[in-house]
Amino acid sequence: MIRQAVLEYDHSKDALENLPARIGKREALVLRGESGYSKAVRVSPRLADLPSVRFTGECSDEEVERLNGYRPDVWIAVGGGKLIDTAKRIAASQSVPLIVVPTLVSNCAAFTPLSVIYTEEGSYIRYDTFPVVIERVIADERLLRDSPYDYFKAGVIDTVAKWYEARYISGTTSRDAGIQSGLSLAAQCGKLMDLSIREQDFRRYGTDIRYIVDHVLAIGGAVGGFGDAGTRVAVAHAVHNALSRFDSTHHWLHGDKVGFGLVVQERLVASEDTVILKNWLQSIGAPTSLAQLGIRFDQIDELVTLIREETKIQGFRDFDDSERLKEILINLQEMVYK
Ligand SMILES: [Zn+2]
Repeated sequence: MIRQAVLEYDHSKDALENLPARIGKREALVLRGESGYSKAVRVSPRLADLPSVRFTGECSDEEVERLNGYRPDVWIAVGGGKLIDTAKRIAASQSVPLIVVPTLVSNCAAFTPLSVIYTEEGSYIRYDTFPVVIERVIADERLLRDSPYDYFKAGVIDTVAKWYEARYISGTTSRDAGIQSGLSLAAQCGKLMDLSIREQDFRRYGTDIRYIVDHVLAIGGAVGGFGDAGTRVAVAHAVHNALSRFDSTHHWLHGDKVGFGLVVQERLVASEDTVILKNWLQSIGAPTSLAQLGIRFDQIDELVTLIREETKIQGFRDFDDSERLKEILINLQEMVYK
């Protein structure tokens, strides 16, 4: 199935200024996070005139139920990925439209018809796919160019992953039009590795950075919208989910863990791109060893079991070789000491 969530995407210098006109006479309610919201208000003070409700920090079933007590004519999500995922879930269940104002360049949540659900403690449970009407994504350049750089970097890794994971599931071409479209967009995402993402470039916000931001926020999300299960997450995200069960990995961002998962995934299929990928991740300061992620040698068996569990839950092509996976992980544990 082809399913896109977004009607309009506006990435411009002062995109937020159009928000009141977009809302019109409707009763709007802002779902707000902490720092992102106050930065957005600084950029566009009129945002503070709208009634708002605070997001408690996890996209959990409990949080969705709590927020379902509010019923505006239109929801406005101002924040990061988990906040946006929560707002989508509520808007879809209430059949109410949503306007999204991303405050981080870290994920494609603003563009995907799905939500990743966590426990209240922050452990991954599942992802739900549903039809949601996102009227407009408002990507305000003033807000994004000052957003945290680490999140941007992790977002680029997560976007580059679209290519490798789509290729893992569907190969490089398909006779299914949706999957082929997803693969073409994913290939574009993979090529982001060729562009500079240094902090000074990000802050300058030139043409290349705009191009990258559009891929992180929008194009990356359209990949799964076209290809559906044929171009969604694969082993790299399974590794991410398994790693997230270890407290020692919690200070690493989503994309950082996905990047490590990509190295594991590409080694599993003996891909020639493994070295390029690893060098790229090292060059941007992302973890490429288990030691960096705080996983000890004696935890590898547990990690292997969790990764196998995750790949089964997600239902894509499984690899039948726990021994090989273990060998790869042992290799990636020790690497840092060599
Ligand atoms: Zn991801």
